[in-house]
Amino acid sequence: MSNPFAGIQWIWKNGQLIDFEKATVHVLTHALHYGSGVFEGIRCYSTKQGPAVFRLAEHLRRLENSAKVYRMPIAFSAEELAEACCETIRANNLSACYIRPIVFRGFGSLGVNPLRSPVEVFIAVWSWGKYLGEESEQGVDVCVSSWRRVSPDAMPAVSKATGNYLNSQLIKMEALANGYVEGIALDARGFVSEGSGENLFLVQDGALITPPVASSILTGITRDTVVKIARDLGIPVREEVVPRGLLYAADEVFMTGTAAEITPIRTIDRIQVGRGCPGEVTARILAQFKGITNGEIEDRHGWLHPVGAGARQVAETAAVPEAM
Ligand code: PMP
Repeated sequence: MSNPFAGIQWIWKNGQLIDFEKATVHVLTHALHYGSGVFEGIRCYSTKQGPAVFRLAEHLRRLENSAKVYRMPIAFSAEELAEACCETIRANNLSACYIRPIVFRGFGSLGVNPLRSPVEVFIAVWSWGKYLGEESEQGVDVCVSSWRRVSPDAMPAVSKATGNYLNSQLIKMEALANGYVEGIALDARGFVSEGSGENLFLVQDGALITPPVASSILTGITRDTVVKIARDLGIPVREEVVPRGLLYAADEVFMTGTAAEITPIRTIDRIQVGRGCPGEVTARILAQFKGITNGEIEDRHGWLHPVGAGARQVAETAAVPEAM
């Protein structure tokens, strides 16, 4: 596999670009010991009008909220972070890429109490292809994991915290060990939650169904994008508690995420989903998503933030993901 970091020269650290090689942390960094970090995964697309970051304002709003849950003050405004993301992309001469802002408790004190360790902010960028494999648009084979999502009164799934991803790693490794590409976790009550790094949609009789926020999901920005695209297309969307059995009976199932984009599911636990992959509704939504992200379909929701544009009032343009 080629090294996705080859050629990356700059990483943004606490307000300035530093050499890729120098972007290191001390071994006594609080986050390394206790998972005290929050982060984002954002994509920049190469559009006909130049490189543009997809839903940057919404990602930065989620980052701020993730940090707020953990009482982590970020010393930079959403506008400053937006410009920092664009600056890092420009400095590394990238067009289509993945952007990883991370905010964490650094080197200070090593008690569990995080409040005595400084808050550090880094932004890295690199090229990242299809997360669930180059062939994933034809459909992937997944399983239902034996690992559950953490209950909402134990860890808040809505905060995209580094520590949450220990649970995701267990789901992912079990799936890979058993020959699947990804695992679907149930929530603490046994209802369908999400994949290790993706939200989930089912298609039943022409309508979309997706598990609610209360099912220990991350409130995905691609999930919100799919909901809005579906509404634009006149496809009904319901946020509903999903019992496991419905997964096998659904006409179509697909996963959504910044890294995974929109990935149709071909089989679940070796049972074929519907009658072929991708299904009709999935294909319609995928075509819209692709068209908007490559600039061929009008950006009617104002989702693309041009990289070359310099600073802009992102906080004002951030659309709050709607409750359904
Ligand atoms: N759930 C989890 C656990 C994730 O890590 C991700 C990826 N960020 C998602 C869902 C999808 O979220 P988004 O569409 O905002 O990338």
